[in-house]
Amino acid sequence: MRPQPASSPYAATSVSGAGELLQLLRDERPRTRAELAKLTGLARSTVGARVDALLASGLLAPSGEAASTGGRPPVRFAFNPEARVVIGADIGATHGRVALTDLSGRPLSEIAESLDITDGPEVVLDWVVATTRRLLDQAGREPRELIGIGIGVPGPVEHSSGRPMRPPIMPGWDGYDVPGHVRRHLDVPVLVDNDVNIMALGEHAMAHPEIEHLLFVKVATGIGAGIISGGRLHRGAVGAAGDLGHVAAPHAADVLCSCGNLGCLEAVASGPAISKALAEIHVTAESNADIVDLVRSGNIPAALAVRQAGRTIGEVLATCVSLLNPSVIVIGGTLSEAGESLIAGVREIVYGRSLPLATGALQIVPATTGTQAGVIGAATMVIQHALTADRVDRAIARSVAQSAS
Ligand SMILES: [Zn+2]
Repeated sequence: MRPQPASSPYAATSVSGAGELLQLLRDERPRTRAELAKLTGLARSTVGARVDALLASGLLAPSGEAASTGGRPPVRFAFNPEARVVIGADIGATHGRVALTDLSGRPLSEIAESLDITDGPEVVLDWVVATTRRLLDQAGREPRELIGIGIGVPGPVEHSSGRPMRPPIMPGWDGYDVPGHVRRHLDVPVLVDNDVNIMALGEHAMAHPEIEHLLFVKVATGIGAGIISGGRLHRGAVGAAGDLGHVAAPHAADVLCSCGNLGCLEAVASGPAISKALAEIHVTAESNADIVDLVRSGNIPAALAVRQAGRTIGEVLATCVSLLNPSVIVIGGTLSEAGESLIAGVREIVYGRSLPLATGALQIVPATTGTQAGVIGAATMVIQHALTADRVDRAIARSVAQSAS
């Protein structure tokens, strides 16, 4: 980096710290320079220099005027989520959804198509790249305005490298360098995680941003959980935290699971397990959508089977509540669309089983982001990565160096 000319308004000392100021402003509330000085305890001149640096980067924008106390009214500034764009991609077993979002994770546009994850990483990731280009084109945004791409996949991922790890339903993806492939076409940070973790991030960011301890449970063909602890996603040592589906369920000792073990939660309370239970009493439900349709149309055996699955999930969640003490449990995934049956079963057991101290303020609620949870969460993962104080400082320093050269 070249030395800054003395006249630069963004001399190195004032630029560093701009990123930290931005963290305060991420709530999108407009504030004046004086309000920011009071809030941070920094000198007015320091705040002024940091505000200028953020204004030049576009991350901050003027946002109306404060009431005047005599003289010219002071200008307010707010975080400008439109300054850059983000791509969130949600890859399922048979579908893909890619959204272009702003820096708040709000989808601006999206494209969803059928795909087959067993076609392998090259085919599927080339589709993500092509869809990203289409979305940028349609929105009139340049690739250089893209701060990163977040991708969720339906299997375990080593988050630090973005490589799937022995994913059972993703043949050809084991150990594949997902970020490397995407970055050969679009040179931006590429972050990868499993679908449940990104759904947890999406639901947390959109519906419960103020909640520090939240457990997101996906109930569909598989069962999994995303753990938000201290406001951050808890991934565990190798990214396997939250793998609820293969926890032993009480009273299920002899049921064989697809993983080869006996008595897993997924073997007795997932969509396929419910279908199997219904088949035994001659009720046909071939898919998760069939189960949801049956319950919604008032089919009593289907509603009872879903409620029983909720109770079984609740038994495992009661243990999680004792361990993690969340204040919100969100129930998502296709089967959560069956209405109250599933969540009623979960509540019955969790509230009945856990100690009052842990459940006194515990809410158990349905997911609200629906099919968009994945893309919003994938974009949120990128935003949390790119907008940390030090990365914002470095990006500003880089653009100052470029404009000075
Ligand atoms: Zn299992």
